[in-house]
Amino acid sequence: MQAEIVCVGSELLLGDIADSNTQYLARRLSVLGIDLHYSTTVGDNQPRLMDTLRRAIGRSDLVLTTGGLGPTDDDVTRESIAEVFGEVPVVDPQLAAQLRSFFALRRLEMTENNLKQASLIPSARSLRNVRGTAPGWWVQKEGRIVVAMPGPPGELHNMWETEVEPILERTGSLIASRTLKMFNISESRVDELLKPLTSGRNPTVAVYAKQDGIHVRITAKSTDRESARATIRPVEEQARSLLGDSVWGADDEVQEQVTAAALIAAGLTLAVAESSTGGQLTSMLTRVKDAPRFLRGALVVPDIPRTAPDIARLARDAAKQFDADIGLATGATATPDSDPPMVDVHIAIVGPSSPAEVLAAHRSRPFRVRLLSSYYALHELRRFLARR
Ligand code: ATP
Repeated sequence: MQAEIVCVGSELLLGDIADSNTQYLARRLSVLGIDLHYSTTVGDNQPRLMDTLRRAIGRSDLVLTTGGLGPTDDDVTRESIAEVFGEVPVVDPQLAAQLRSFFALRRLEMTENNLKQASLIPSARSLRNVRGTAPGWWVQKEGRIVVAMPGPPGELHNMWETEVEPILERTGSLIASRTLKMFNISESRVDELLKPLTSGRNPTVAVYAKQDGIHVRITAKSTDRESARATIRPVEEQARSLLGDSVWGADDEVQEQVTAAALIAAGLTLAVAESSTGGQLTSMLTRVKDAPRFLRGALVVPDIPRTAPDIARLARDAAKQFDADIGLATGATATPDSDPPMVDVHIAIVGPSSPAEVLAAHRSRPFRVRLLSSYYALHELRRFLARR
């Protein structure tokens, strides 16, 4: 099945709002294993919307529209679909009664123009909208499906998840995926290591550069979730053995949670001193659910150039001040004569029975230094704990 999205709304074309509906639907379709080939944005203009719909119906099995289902004259999605299919909208008595009770329940006046939201064409059945007044339409005609859904994201998500997806789930294949996450390794190196796997069709293996490192997504298509997972499993094992210990997590895991789990498992407490990270590292660590179990305290000190021994001293001082087993410090110095400008990021760690050591001198562009040093600090702490 090939799908296409049509987002309706002049606000989108004026730049007043960003289109999050396409991103949402694209993700949901990919999980269902339905290929998305086109996505179009069109304003609240009936001739242009009809033109877009005709093209979409001509080339795609499933056309998803969002927006333009409101009560006013510039909401023209229903009218356009009706006209493209050569049918006439008629007010459905049951939908009209539901609409009246929606307004009565909220002690709001229902005006006549609301009634067009209760209309249907013969090829359409309505989709419930528990969050708003506009029901959606599921239109099936001549081997094509058009699903018209409201624009407000909350209404769209609810309708999609409760009304549309359950029907589509029964018709298509589905997709399952597994994401392996790495840090301190380049995208090209990962791509090179995974060469034996990246040309496969099912599962597919794709490499992405993200803020927190490199992600490798293994995606399988199948008729059921269990066999999709079985297709992924051996390829994941191969990928893990090719990538070695640069893999720190999978799927929804985040570095701060994984590092915190290692600290908790070792029964160790932590104190942090932040120079190049300006509080970002502590902010990440305090978001971890069990932070009070391991985080004793944190210092944020001015981000001035610091030598490796200065940063080692910071780590020692933090551990002492907060009576923690481990002290972790971040600091940076400008890289001499680099063009574009770069900074050297230093991470110092002092353990319960080890002297403070500066474990790494990583490089970063200045504008990324806070985030990157935070990730480097988490990465080095994980490695330090693994070596113990
Ligand atoms: P309503 O019944 O509330 O009038 P509608 O189906 O007519 O809904 P629109 O009037 O087109 O939808 O859009 C209503 C609001 O929904 C917009 O003001 C915007 O906030 C949000 N919206 C619409 N389309 C999108 C989109 N593609 N991405 C994100 N938000 C959107």
